[in-house]
Amino acid sequence: GIVGHTGYNSCPKCHAYGRRVENRTVLLETDSPLRTDHEFRLKIDSTHHKNVSIFEQLPNFNMINSVPLDYLHTILLGVMRKMLDLWFDTKSLYPPSIKAKISQKISLLSTYEPKEFQRRLRGLEKMKLWKGNELRTFLLFIGPSALKDYISNEHFQHFLLLHIAITILVDESLCIKFNAIAKDLLYKFIEEFSFYYGEKNHSFNVHLLLHICDDVIRNGSLDNFSAFKFESYLGKIKSFVKSPHQPVEQIHNRIIELLSISQLSINECALNYSLKNPLENGFYGKILINDVLIDGSSTCDSFVQLNNGELLKILRFRLLENEIIAIEMDDFLVVVFTIDDSCAVIRKEWLVDQNSCFFPSTFEYHQAMKAKSKSSYRT
Ligand SMILES: [Zn+2]
Repeated sequence: GIVGHTGYNSCPKCHAYGRRVENRTVLLETDSPLRTDHEFRLKIDSTHHKNVSIFEQLPNFNMINSVPLDYLHTILLGVMRKMLDLWFDTKSLYPPSIKAKISQKISLLSTYEPKEFQRRLRGLEKMKLWKGNELRTFLLFIGPSALKDYISNEHFQHFLLLHIAITILVDESLCIKFNAIAKDLLYKFIEEFSFYYGEKNHSFNVHLLLHICDDVIRNGSLDNFSAFKFESYLGKIKSFVKSPHQPVEQIHNRIIELLSISQLSINECALNYSLKNPLENGFYGKILINDVLIDGSSTCDSFVQLNNGELLKILRFRLLENEIIAIEMDDFLVVVFTIDDSCAVIRKEWLVDQNSCFFPSTFEYHQAMKAKSKSSYRT
């Protein structure tokens, strides 16, 4: 490994040498020579290295260029969060009244966030709790409108340099074409940072912005190599552990279960299944599909998740016309269309009679009518 971010020669990409300002290490140099794989392996800058990295054993691995910077930590949790703290934290540049007004604007603007946004942006009173996705929403979408007319024009113009540069770098179609422009904007942003916020705040992350455009050229847009998806999966892994006893085994078992569920499709149900636990009127209480048990009487084995993420509780099953299984749920049925043998989950009210149902495949009225006349089902 290499020295941490408080080290004088901590930049993993260049030879910028830090200095101490008010008990903080700052990296102010912007024109230092870049590090190379060759000199890294020779440990020429000896104090940059803490020990020999195991990655040096990987074939065709460049110890500088094959290790891209991560924009979740560098830009969002790093620079964007620092600017928010400088503007609105205690002893900040703007009074609480301005913070409150911007917060109001954020809550108004955030109501327009489309549902594809993973997390709705909360107000500035919760900014200490903002997750990476919220900082991303602020930097790329809501920040410019929320800040305009509330912070000084100098701070606003300076923030826009970062906003525009990162907007270019997250866009697949712009990140290479306008890479040089993004680099110029970030260079100006870094150069002006100390002027507006003081040298002591010119931190490691601010310096790293110098190098992010080169990583985009090598790896594509920022989301291509960000830690977002790994961080969100870490949360999922944590949720697998329900007790302190044998946590690794619990994680392993949940992952194996998930893999077996993801391989199960409704179409496969008809191919390899066996019904168990016969009830009245041709119903069954359990079904074994490709070694996965669904038990209508059990709380933990009776739920299925549809492709749209919706959870359904299955109550019982039945067999009709000696062919296809029916899976009956609280308000839903699984039907098989004879026209092409495809399956779908429908609401019970869509069932017309034993041989037909409504099915608004594209949610257009005429399509549904057509489906009624053409499609039949075998439950
Ligand atoms: Zn550097």
